[in-house]
Amino acid sequence: MMMKEMLYEGKAKKVYATDNDAQYIVQYKDDATAFNGLKKGTISGKGVINNQMSNLMMRLLEEYGIPTHYVEELSERETVVKKVNIIPLEVIIRNIAAGSFSKRYGVEEGTKFDSPTIEFSYKDDDLGDPLINDYHALAMKLATAEDIALIKDMAFKINDVMKNFFKDIGITLVDFKLEFGVTTDGVIVLADEISPDTCRFWDSETGEKMDKDRFRRDLGNVEDAYQEVIRRVSENRS
Ligand code: UDP
Repeated sequence: MMMKEMLYEGKAKKVYATDNDAQYIVQYKDDATAFNGLKKGTISGKGVINNQMSNLMMRLLEEYGIPTHYVEELSERETVVKKVNIIPLEVIIRNIAAGSFSKRYGVEEGTKFDSPTIEFSYKDDDLGDPLINDYHALAMKLATAEDIALIKDMAFKINDVMKNFFKDIGITLVDFKLEFGVTTDGVIVLADEISPDTCRFWDSETGEKMDKDRFRRDLGNVEDAYQEVIRRVSENRS
């Protein structure tokens, strides 16, 4: 696999072209941002953890019939993925109230839902990723009605698989963000990453936060929390 020119540099990853027209290489960085880029920092070793963790999750989900962009882990920080056009929607699933949900609706953090919720944000940094509904997504032609229905099904199925997986390793899956993309063959697949940057994880016993909220809220021991998540995940799967 030949790595060619860099196509895109995001907040946490770089994307490179390869000698295969249908594949990219993603490279995970230690850079961390929060509050739409207002807070910046480094979480040392994060790129390695998020690369491994995301790949472990994608392989797990593939076993449950969820198509993903994952192709092959190349190195500690680099993975070959299918080339996709990212659908500009952040798909957020929640099992427990936290973060922006608690703030927006005045629901105490930690309030458990009887069934999971789903919401969409329009992926646009300049607009601050505004919350939108299905009709808005359709009006803006971000996806078709069929695509949106499929994305919702996949997102809830992913939640079921992940919730059970994390429960077994003593972690409560509070909420998480997904992104989907369309491959060169026109198939909708799970893309981007699944990591402590994009999920809220609470220790099932102590309730301790084991995710990016430690960075967002200056709680300390950020690196330790990421290390502990990957330790438990890889003990259960390799
Ligand atoms: N999230 C993310 N990227 C974003 C916004 C949210 O990965 O741009 C994740 C976040 O880590 C959390 C979930 O999506 O696990 C829900 O985030 P929320 O809407 O509560 O926003 P936040 O509190 O992060 O502003």
